[in-house]
Amino acid sequence: MSAVQDLPPLREALAAHGLMAKKSFGQHFLLDLNITRKIARLAEVGPGDVVIEVGPGPGGLTRALLETGAKVVAVEKDERFRALLEELVEASGGTMRLVLGDALEANEAELAGGGPAHIVSNLPYNVGTPLLIKWLTGPWTPASLTLMFQKEVADRIAAAPGTSAYGRLAVIAQATCEARVVMDVPARAFTPPPKIDSAVVRLLPRADRPAPKRLDALQAVTAAAFGQRRKMLRASLKALGGEPLAVAAGLDPQARAETVDVAGFLRLADAWTTLRQGRG
Ligand code: SAM
Repeated sequence: MSAVQDLPPLREALAAHGLMAKKSFGQHFLLDLNITRKIARLAEVGPGDVVIEVGPGPGGLTRALLETGAKVVAVEKDERFRALLEELVEASGGTMRLVLGDALEANEAELAGGGPAHIVSNLPYNVGTPLLIKWLTGPWTPASLTLMFQKEVADRIAAAPGTSAYGRLAVIAQATCEARVVMDVPARAFTPPPKIDSAVVRLLPRADRPAPKRLDALQAVTAAAFGQRRKMLRASLKALGGEPLAVAAGLDPQARAETVDVAGFLRLADAWTTLRQGRG
């Protein structure tokens, strides 16, 4: 048996360190190792893989990830967890590294040690979406992402065109990755339980992930189109080029953003870039 498996149960570890969940850090803990092991399986990581885990908290998901044989770099913002997590580092026998700091500020390439790395996290709700956008559009590309979100956010990431959940997040996520909801997790699985259910999303970066400049253009056109999602494209895109822009992208200017698929938005981003260069 490994030393990680010899550690006291998570509830005991929390009690021993006098730790309670803090709302301001979005803390809802998974203390059931059956659930954290299932997430680690869904992440498909194992010996030789490097995993960046955001927000290890009491370390339940971290323990499950370590059990797979993966190397874990855990980034935790809440200083109160230092001693508890250092015990886990000790028990890991050199396979875990703890970084105390804000994941929004982290340099993932550096955390990954120069090689590829997977991201696995039960994300703090308050920063889940900004972190996802950072990983999807930033200069560093993760090998995979396995992330817990509020169910409603998970549905928005994986949404298909023509549905009310389809919006900017779906377009950015699906232009850069294959995105699927792989597990529903009821609110009662967390300590303390949040008000709403959660779900795990798995994102696999596409080989043809758009380059940073194309992603910037995609962000601009989706912001305009979905900023006024009930309007026709010719109106919502007015400031960017209106009807001629929609036509140049092969889109119906009378269509609404909700009905345009990801390929359509990429054409729109390219047409906008061409239009601006022409004006340049
Ligand atoms: N992984 C643990 C689990 O599953 O039980 C805790 C998950 S809890 C939903 C979110 C964790 O992220 C907390 O430990 C919280 O302190 C941490 N956190 C919140 N904001 C953070 C940030 N900006 N950077 C790093 N960690 C953060």
